[in-house]
Amino acid sequence: MPTPTSDVIDFEKRGANGAIGLITINNPPANALSFAVVKGALEALDACLEDDGIEAVVLTGAGRMFVAGADIREFSIPRPDGVPELNAVIDACEASPKPVVAAINGIAFGGGLELAMGCHYRLISSAAQVGQPEVNLGIIPGGGGTQRLPRLAGIDAALEMCVYGKPIKAEKAGELGFADEVVEGDIVERAIAFAGEIAGRPPRRTGEQTEKLAGLDTAKLEEIREDIKKKQRGVMAPLVAVDMIEVAATRPFEEGLKAERDEFVKLRDSDQSAAMRYMFFAEREAAKIPGIGKDTAARKIEKAAIVGSGTMGGGIAMNFANAGIPVTVLDVDRGALDAGFAKVKQTYGGSVSRGRMTEAQAAERMGLIAGTTDYADLADADIVIEAALEDMDLKKKIFAVLDEACKPDAILASNTSSLDIDEIAAATDRPDKVVGMHFFSPANVMKLVENVRTAKASKESLATLMGLSKGLGKTGVMVGVGDGFVGNRMYHVAARIGEFLVEEGAMPWDVDAALYDWGFAMGPFAVNDLAGIDVRIAIREAQKSLYPGRREPVIVSRLYEMGRYGQKTGKGWYDYSEGRRGKPDPEVEALILETSKELGIERRAFSRSDIVQAYLAALANTGAHVLDEGLAIRSSDIDVIWNYGYGFPRRRGGPMFHADLVGLDKVLAKAEELHAAYGDWMKPAELLKSSAAEGGKFNDFKAG
Ligand code: NAD
Repeated sequence: MPTPTSDVIDFEKRGANGAIGLITINNPPANALSFAVVKGALEALDACLEDDGIEAVVLTGAGRMFVAGADIREFSIPRPDGVPELNAVIDACEASPKPVVAAINGIAFGGGLELAMGCHYRLISSAAQVGQPEVNLGIIPGGGGTQRLPRLAGIDAALEMCVYGKPIKAEKAGELGFADEVVEGDIVERAIAFAGEIAGRPPRRTGEQTEKLAGLDTAKLEEIREDIKKKQRGVMAPLVAVDMIEVAATRPFEEGLKAERDEFVKLRDSDQSAAMRYMFFAEREAAKIPGIGKDTAARKIEKAAIVGSGTMGGGIAMNFANAGIPVTVLDVDRGALDAGFAKVKQTYGGSVSRGRMTEAQAAERMGLIAGTTDYADLADADIVIEAALEDMDLKKKIFAVLDEACKPDAILASNTSSLDIDEIAAATDRPDKVVGMHFFSPANVMKLVENVRTAKASKESLATLMGLSKGLGKTGVMVGVGDGFVGNRMYHVAARIGEFLVEEGAMPWDVDAALYDWGFAMGPFAVNDLAGIDVRIAIREAQKSLYPGRREPVIVSRLYEMGRYGQKTGKGWYDYSEGRRGKPDPEVEALILETSKELGIERRAFSRSDIVQAYLAALANTGAHVLDEGLAIRSSDIDVIWNYGYGFPRRRGGPMFHADLVGLDKVLAKAEELHAAYGDWMKPAELLKSSAAEGGKFNDFKAG
């Protein structure tokens, strides 16, 4: 008989008299279930069944993983002839007349876990984890996971794992009875011995187990559904996963498998899953910077400093403390420092009272943050992040002082939202070490950091920024110096479109509701009230020289003149007298109607779709300008920025992915309309025009 070993499957006969067939998946780095693995595994299993000398089978993974999951890059490739579906292998394991033992040596996620559940017994390494994270990609398990997991681990654990995508550790798998043994030491040796012990027993098929399905709590299922609808608005996969677990508990096994398969295929082929898979890769891509490789030495950051202990400075300091890095915060006087520290303490206190950390952990983190008013105390910092006021002259002075006070190889970063960091860098003798780290508010919560590449920044400085943002648990995206970098540049253009729509006929709450219902976390007017209408006006003033002669929306200026700055004054676009959820204000409505009249505008109705299309076209067109100008490396980086910094719904990808999905010809037509209505600041980008003409996509864009 030919040996069933292949490039990705190892096969050996082990145990007494070679009676145990050991099948090892060997597809580094993650043992993903590629077409070749699936085909090879089935052939190996068939060979074991045909070989009369083999009494039981052990299935395991080479290296540190069992199987990390399906090969999602193969999702959009048709299965080659002769390659069975993964389900055929899982079913064959389950149907095998000889016992099959899974030796879960490391991570078993997705299809890997489903494969282990098709086996009759499971041994798990004490360091391993198992999970069904498919919902994160907009799909559900499609290889029986929703049907077998409740049978093996119980309904509650299956819900946690399939609906929320949370993995469990080996110990828990043992407690739940999901694993027959938790193994310390060599799991393959133990599995071979175990297989010898159970050889000859009738196989214990997962589909036939029903004890753990009793007592389905339908009220709990309803609660979970409500929770998902609230916290993951419009996301389909978790709701389908709940349904499938209900099916597992109430319908025959075969019927459940078929229902799961049908739903899996529908989700896999949906735009939503395409968007979520795209975002999964987009995040990984964002970490790759052309010209910077593993050979570029990133500096290790062991001590940090922050200038400014205000809203941003305090939040940024917490990021370092949370990562265990000591940080010194400098401000002008003790009073400012005390105010900053009080806020940090309050935020940690909130985490303690919500059970997110212990008192001791909060105290330990506070202990890592020191305060000072003396630049000499920043002398040994590896990086300084400046988060003082948004004022060019002030920042230049601060950087000149930092240049003197800090060690020569320290990196000096600014958290500015809008100023030219090249100009700031020129105030120092180390422009190669001056860069931007643009955190988002609240800085201890928001995952996004725009890492700003200045004209003279060295590769080491940039590699350090990318490494540091990752070390702080953030998603760092590299951007160039320009008006508002990437995110704010796009946001301010789209928000202006919103303001013009209000002058012409919509109400701010209509615009916000249309975008919220489409999936955004907040509409632009609610965001404006949160960030401050005074801040918006200041940005507009600062932009005047960049966009000479640009017509400005009028109503926002009126609100500013009235002192309606947003949440901080209790009134802005909305009225906050009854709390942080603002309500529409008749005074604002009257102001809007009056202003339109004054401007000679005949107000007209905008449908929700009109609003959403205009807003998204403004975003995509500005994103294309950003690419034309080389401010972002790739289109997908822009989508990552919008996902993590601006509440763009992940289930729709990002503004650039969405434009690609809609078709760039349509986006161009809308951008041309906006251009005609509002002038040159809305002119269509070259990339949009050329891609639309060629039937191309933003995602095809390559920098350089
Ligand atoms: P803030 O007013 O809350 O804090 C500024 C702090 O800087 C204050 O504590 C102030 O005392 C201190 N300060 C002023 N002059 C100083 C000096 N000469 N030396 C040292 N400290 C000084 O402001 P913020 O909202 O934290 O913004 C800080 C920076 O971050 C600005 O450049 C801003 O554009 C940028 N930023 C803000 C946000 C945001 O949402 N607030 C987001 C991203 C970036």
